[in-house]
Amino acid sequence: MYKTKDKKFFLGVLGHPIGHSLSPELHAFLGKEFGIDLDYQKIDVAPCDLKKEIDTLKLNGVKGLNITIPHKIEIIKYLDEISEKAKILNSVNTVVNRNGKLYGYSTDGDGFYYSLLLNGCEIKNKNVLVIGAGGAARAVCLSLAENGAKSITNISRTQDKVHTICDMLEKYTDASVFDALSENMNYDFIINTTPVGMHPLENENSCKFMELINENTTCVDLIYNPGKTLFLREAEKKNAKIINGLGMLLMQGILSFQKFFDIEIDKDKAYDKLQEEFKDFRI
Ligand code: NAP
Repeated sequence: MYKTKDKKFFLGVLGHPIGHSLSPELHAFLGKEFGIDLDYQKIDVAPCDLKKEIDTLKLNGVKGLNITIPHKIEIIKYLDEISEKAKILNSVNTVVNRNGKLYGYSTDGDGFYYSLLLNGCEIKNKNVLVIGAGGAARAVCLSLAENGAKSITNISRTQDKVHTICDMLEKYTDASVFDALSENMNYDFIINTTPVGMHPLENENSCKFMELINENTTCVDLIYNPGKTLFLREAEKKNAKIINGLGMLLMQGILSFQKFFDIEIDKDKAYDKLQEEFKDFRI
């Protein structure tokens, strides 16, 4: 492990478990596209070994890391600096090593927002319902607020977590925020951020309020495996526009890649190529 040929950039994705991560293929593809020779590894680290692993990775000259479940919060302790957004979200999914110092960023929210834009959706002045109140919901809600959503309603089975998200939005943004469904509200977007609908819950619908959906609704699921969750399949029957989580996954990867190499990528073009490359993806 870590052995990498001279002149290659050493990168990796850190998680536990990590077997199903698409990041190595995604970054290998981007590396080829942009002529950057890289060695991107899957690194499975149990939470108790995180510090030791980070020290070893630094010693081995790691250039950058993607961080996934369950380390997005814990990693912060071992970084020299984190971005303002990562501070607000209390979450890091991208680490860059610059001259021995580790810098942390969160590209999840921007990845989500750009994937909507590239699917022809604009958030500005829209009423949005977000189901689930975990880490991904936090990033999604902040990006919705930053990009001018008219209102954000967050619902989840654990009301405390909903309140934490609503408090964050009220502290850092001017968005109108609700912690429960409002009567007569017409939701333009309904976004599932829970794992309900993902294997092994493939036969469960994350949205208990299908009556809110019509042909003017855009339904988004952060899940990308299966490509169409039951929520999206049912929404499609009501002629809603549907978007799965593959675009977000690809886009947060593109944004990480930009950070690793301090370059600006034509995101539309890279996104189109990656969509084509991964269109048949299924774990
Ligand atoms: P998380 O922090 O664990 O949050 C999960 C949320 O879903 C919590 O609000 C949790 O409620 C709720 N939930 C879990 N199981 C549920 C169930 N059976 N019924 C109702 N609610 C349930 O996880 P996360 O990091 O936010 O990730 C959530 C999902 O987003 C995952 O499927 C992940 O793969 C996906 N994701 C996709 C991308 C992408 O790039 N496409 C990026 C990030 C995440 P409690 O708090 O009550 O447990």
